[in-house]
Amino acid sequence: MTMNTQGRPTTPAAHDAPHDDGASARKTFTGNRGLDMEEPLIFEIGRPDVTGVDLDAPLAVTPRLGALARKAPLDLPGLSEPEAVRHYVRLSRNNYAIDSGLYPLGSCTMKHNPRLNEKMARLPGFGDAHPLQPQATCQGALELIYTLGEWLCELTAMKAVAMSPKAGAHGELCGMMAIKAAIAARGEGATRNVVLVPDSAHGTNPATAALIGFTVRPVPAGEDGTVRPDAVKAALGPDVAAIMLTNPNTCGLFEPAIVEIAEAVHAAGAYFYCDGANFNAIVGKTKPGDLGVDAMHINLHKTFSTPHGGGGPGAGPVVLSERLAAFAPAPFVRKQDETYALVEHAKGTTSFGRMTAFHGQMGMFVRAMAYMLSHGADGMRQASEDAVLAANYIRASLGDLMSAPFGDRMCMHEALFDDEWLKGTGVTTLDFAKAMIDEGYHPMTMYFPLVVHGAMLIEPTESESKASLDLFIATLRDLAMSAKKGETDRFTGAPYLAPRRRLDETRAARNPVLKWTRPAPQAEAAE
Ligand SMILES: *Cc1c(COP(=O)(O)O)cnc(C)c1O
Repeated sequence: MTMNTQGRPTTPAAHDAPHDDGASARKTFTGNRGLDMEEPLIFEIGRPDVTGVDLDAPLAVTPRLGALARKAPLDLPGLSEPEAVRHYVRLSRNNYAIDSGLYPLGSCTMKHNPRLNEKMARLPGFGDAHPLQPQATCQGALELIYTLGEWLCELTAMKAVAMSPKAGAHGELCGMMAIKAAIAARGEGATRNVVLVPDSAHGTNPATAALIGFTVRPVPAGEDGTVRPDAVKAALGPDVAAIMLTNPNTCGLFEPAIVEIAEAVHAAGAYFYCDGANFNAIVGKTKPGDLGVDAMHINLHKTFSTPHGGGGPGAGPVVLSERLAAFAPAPFVRKQDETYALVEHAKGTTSFGRMTAFHGQMGMFVRAMAYMLSHGADGMRQASEDAVLAANYIRASLGDLMSAPFGDRMCMHEALFDDEWLKGTGVTTLDFAKAMIDEGYHPMTMYFPLVVHGAMLIEPTESESKASLDLFIATLRDLAMSAKKGETDRFTGAPYLAPRRRLDETRAARNPVLKWTRPAPQAEAAE
């Protein structure tokens, strides 16, 4: 394999699959494989002395930066416009996206994002609004934030909402800070410092609790993948500030004892934080406030379609119960008569402060609002029902071949399988997932939740048609039968057909090479 100066392979690895017909092993002069282009880094193809724009020379100015003035050129790579466009288009084609195929990642809700939402978010009154412009000039934007907040409260039967958190994990932090403030206001800040977190929790839950100084006390999951009220009661005590529970949980199951758990938590003087990232499964079906929840974040980017992946942007508004409403962070939108005001400083209130510089992710608010308006109450309920139906269709259609730890129960939005069925085949969950790439599918979530061995968590969402689900199921059945027949080659070396083969992910995580360094001139000449 030829390496470039940065140690990256310049050509795809040899395609040496034993069942390969040889066509894919054929080397090409360019390194491209048909329309599958090898794209170097922009630093490798651009040159500092080239530019795609023709600007007049800048006016003479007297620099006032003193010693801070840059002495050497910035050394940014330049390309002509067509070259720059090609570079980014080629990179984008290497990206697997919900717009290119079914994205079965569990715990992530990769659903279709209607184009209408994008159009609405680009309306100049929303898209070009500046967070510091006079409030009289952006009443419509404030009204939208206010209305969306009201609707989130309505959908969850909660009292107040904090719109500013910028992701699910940020929302968790916000909700737990409100709980911390409420406990401090009761004068119990020094004594109530434990947060109960079930074993099956999303990793962000214990991380959030620990970040703001709580001690995490784990609650073991029951045999059936749900949290047992007895286990919660045994862990409760005068030192417990809150429980953080995910519902539907990360095994894709609805927590049936949630009301009993909420009552026990309240009786012990603690608060009930619900991780509502999986709200997509229950919108319009049940309201967390009615179940005894005190605080819950909603991932707009999972439930109300606003796009995510690749690190954002997200939006994680937090709804708060009557008991916590007074501690909501600033800013918030207040409606007086027909005027909306962004209350920036909640002086004289018990607000715990603020989470962000401004009011939150405006573009995401617009997309979520457009999603809600275009679906209506019945449409949102149907989206939840269809998401659950699609997940159960997958669970039922694969259950005879792949073992499912809680497969005898209906699941909610995601279907969970383990690796019991792969025992003795020489194929692991990782191998199976990698073989899916050769079939043109993004793998499902692997090895999560941790409470299930070799977990494979599949969330199809409501976006997929029956035909699309059927093809996905047929593909997984074909792979599963192949694994059971002992065709290990199809798996252990997979992916064979991706631009890159199996990466050393541990080394990439431990020793990431994040910086491009210009090769020495002689090395360049030698290459
Ligand atoms: C996605 C998710 C989170 C975190 O949300 P981010 O927006 O990625 O920070 C937390 N909990 C659960 C259960 C999730 O699925």
